[in-house]
Amino acid sequence: MSTITLEETLPQTRTAMMKALVMEGLGKVSLAEKRIPRIGPDDALVRTTAALVCTSDIHTVGGALGVRHNLTLGHEAVGSIERLGSEVRGLRIGQRVAVGAITPCWRCENCQRGFPSQCGQALGGWKFANVKDGTLAEYVHVNDAQANLCPIPDTIPDEAAVYACDMMSTGLAGAENAAIPAGGTVAVFGLGPVGLMAVAFSRLLGAGLVVGVDSVPARQTLALAFGADEIVDFSKRDPVEAVRRLTSENGVDSAIEAVGSPDAFAACVRTTRPGGTISNVGYHGHGDVVPIPRLEWGVGMSDKTIRTALCPGGRLRMERLLRLLEGKRVDPTPLTTHRIPFSEIERAFRLMATKAEGILKPLIVF
Ligand SMILES: [Zn+2]
Ligand SMILES: [Zn+2]
Repeated sequence: MSTITLEETLPQTRTAMMKALVMEGLGKVSLAEKRIPRIGPDDALVRTTAALVCTSDIHTVGGALGVRHNLTLGHEAVGSIERLGSEVRGLRIGQRVAVGAITPCWRCENCQRGFPSQCGQALGGWKFANVKDGTLAEYVHVNDAQANLCPIPDTIPDEAAVYACDMMSTGLAGAENAAIPAGGTVAVFGLGPVGLMAVAFSRLLGAGLVVGVDSVPARQTLALAFGADEIVDFSKRDPVEAVRRLTSENGVDSAIEAVGSPDAFAACVRTTRPGGTISNVGYHGHGDVVPIPRLEWGVGMSDKTIRTALCPGGRLRMERLLRLLEGKRVDPTPLTTHRIPFSEIERAFRLMATKAEGILKPLIVF
């Protein structure tokens, strides 16, 4: 097997260096010069055209995954194919593509068992900005490109397509795992980008009542626009009581945890009716345990199901998400609160870390 190197393929006049936002170490990021990655036969090199910063990037820099040095951040990006490995079929140079946030190998035991996000090991499908350089760079190396890149229809602009990489897929996973009965009741805890997408997809999957739980007015307004029927402001009233009241004291069929906090998780267990489902898509970045409230869990015998998911990846799923964009079934673009050039990415990162200026998602344009 031969490895294609960039030096062999790019014109000699082009520099082999690029700019990348790196995590230098715990708590420290900077815009650095890096070599443009080389690709192997199954890989692709994508020239980034638009990207999003994710709250999980902030968790990563804070040390949630352990210490990393000089690691490129980011996992949500679209671009055009610059180079293709010799074994990749069905894609062509210059094609606009969405890069899956999760890039499994699609061959290992966990992938074949139907859990590609857990490729090789728990969370192993999560490679960008975890075990390899991420997408907040001018060029991105994509492993197993045939399955992890998805062509973008001409009618969908970058700024919409980039939501298919993670936010839409994860929000949909939250709603899918919630096993929402048609006409059933759902509470979504946390109305950040993923929670808001979970609201939209709960509605799309047939929920009869969607309750959004958050204290930030701008997020509440967006949740209503994405299809929430009721809003519970947990800073003003006890969310568990409020959700129970909205469901004739029954509790909801499904609760979606999109915060990643022990309190929100506990509230999900408390508000779910017996036989209901707790669907966790929150990133629990702190502490050693996530407690389950014993009594509301029916002392372990309430037929409540707890399910978890990491963003599902893959071309087919992104194809379906892009079809939803094309058909205008969902429009995630109101999540973009800021539009920031890549040269000012450090500012975007600071805003995401502090959640200043009401930031939800900064769109990074290259
Ligand atoms: Zn993300
Ligand atoms: Zn795998």
